[in-house]
Amino acid sequence: MSNAIVWFRADLRLADNPALSAALEAGHAVIPVYVVDEAKAEIRPLGTAAVCWLHQSLQALDAALRSRGSRLVLLRGPAERVIDELATRCQAEAVYWNRLYDRGTRDRDARLKQTLLARGVRVQSFKAGLLVEPWEVQTKSGMPFKVFTPFWRACRSQAKPGRPLDAPARLPRLADSAAGEPLATLLHRKTASGLGVHSTPGEAGAMDRLSSFLDDGLEPYHAHRDVPALDGTSRLSPHLALGELSPRQIWHAVTTRRPSPAGEKFLSEIGWREFAYNLLFHVGDLDRCNMRPEFDGLPWLDHPELIEAWQQGRTGYPIVDAGMRQLLATGWMHNRVRMITASFLTKHLLTDWRVGERWFWDRLVDADPANNPVGWQWVAGSGADAAPFFRIFNPVLQGEKFDPDGTYVKQWLPELACLPAKSIHRPWAVDPPLSPQRYPQPIVDHAAARERALDAFAGLKRRPPRSP
Ligand SMILES: Cc1cc2nc3c(=O)[nH]c(=O)nc-3n(C[C@H](O)[C@H](O)[C@H](O)COP(=O)(O)OP(=O)(O)OC[C@H]3O[C@@H](n4cnc5c(N)ncnc54)[C@H](O)[C@@H]3O)c2cc1C
Repeated sequence: MSNAIVWFRADLRLADNPALSAALEAGHAVIPVYVVDEAKAEIRPLGTAAVCWLHQSLQALDAALRSRGSRLVLLRGPAERVIDELATRCQAEAVYWNRLYDRGTRDRDARLKQTLLARGVRVQSFKAGLLVEPWEVQTKSGMPFKVFTPFWRACRSQAKPGRPLDAPARLPRLADSAAGEPLATLLHRKTASGLGVHSTPGEAGAMDRLSSFLDDGLEPYHAHRDVPALDGTSRLSPHLALGELSPRQIWHAVTTRRPSPAGEKFLSEIGWREFAYNLLFHVGDLDRCNMRPEFDGLPWLDHPELIEAWQQGRTGYPIVDAGMRQLLATGWMHNRVRMITASFLTKHLLTDWRVGERWFWDRLVDADPANNPVGWQWVAGSGADAAPFFRIFNPVLQGEKFDPDGTYVKQWLPELACLPAKSIHRPWAVDPPLSPQRYPQPIVDHAAARERALDAFAGLKRRPPRSP
């Protein structure tokens, strides 16, 4: 049997893994590899919370491979070098991987492919992380989409995802030449307390989460998804970020059920993920450059003590602080509250969205190279199909609308638990006043901050968007 490397990247699963299935179908002795590449070609090394999830996910992948007669080979170093060296050491006939879409990774993969081909090693890459690859959908004039709704309409009419692939029942025994390092020595041991409270890292945890969401959460999804106090969304994001399940598995699981508006709504959120990857592919540098170049002229402020108050959940606005504390404690934050906290940073504090993007990147278990910068640019107003900059969330009204009885705020800010619902989003107005040690006064006045942000925006000169 000839050896072939299957290089796991953002696809830490055995089911619906086209690279793995193709290597096995070709009759190879598969060498499953993961490379810890600290000088990653992708946007930047993973943050603290995501590394913690990754560690557990790799352990789950290793256990799944072992139960089928193989194991995971862990290597450290620049992926371009270590994959090449492994291919030589194991006399691999081929290397298989599933495609990634950011520019740095694509360039790195293209170089590695050339090196391997020059040595006579075949390379095959596959679609596994998206329903529709960025070059598969275009506007009628042959351009990439800049607006979500027509993008998703085109995807819905063109996507024919087909049945997900089964996981292999058995795997060939690993070649002796494929030594690697033990998992524990390779990865950081930093843990963020509370990570994994919602589901278990790894493929089995992802599938459990999907089926429990479809059974109990899908029907009320439309009504519940904007209420942060409820467990009203799928919480599949960390599983999707590392590819512990595929969008095709989700698509298949949803579309084989009775059609429903809830199913369509949920699939459209998967569509936002597709849209973000489409932008990542076509625009690139999403984490660094404003998609709307006029934002290059925005006079962002830099007040480290205010940024720290935001990071630590001490802004004096309960819905903002509850979200930031949920993030610190669990590595996850509800989507509505992501929007509110991001709006507060970029508009009330007039802080460059890149500061927030970096903080989220470090703290989120679902930190995603496409969804995170696209989410930040959408809120800041600098992105494709973004919320206009002048739409400035009022954190009090947002709190009163989406957390009317303060259940969410009280969960994450126990110091406010004794306040009545009518005061929970305006704690500065209670009588007698709360001591600042217990809970801070607002770090900025909403009305003044709003005016300041609008003035800054009014000074921008319109320029054409960076073209995807
Ligand atoms: C400022 C900001 C930063 C964000 N950073 C990230 C991030 O780093 N990683 C991440 O996965 N999502 C990010 N999002 C998008 C969204 O908040 C999360 O995907 C969602 O909250 C995850 O929870 P869920 O899996 O329960 O979502 P569900 O509502 O159950 O949605 C299912 C899946 O659809 C996708 N999805 C849902 N909403 C969006 C969206 N707005 N954009 C892109 N994909 C979406 C996700 O893959 C999600 O897991 C960000 C949003 C904002 C506003």
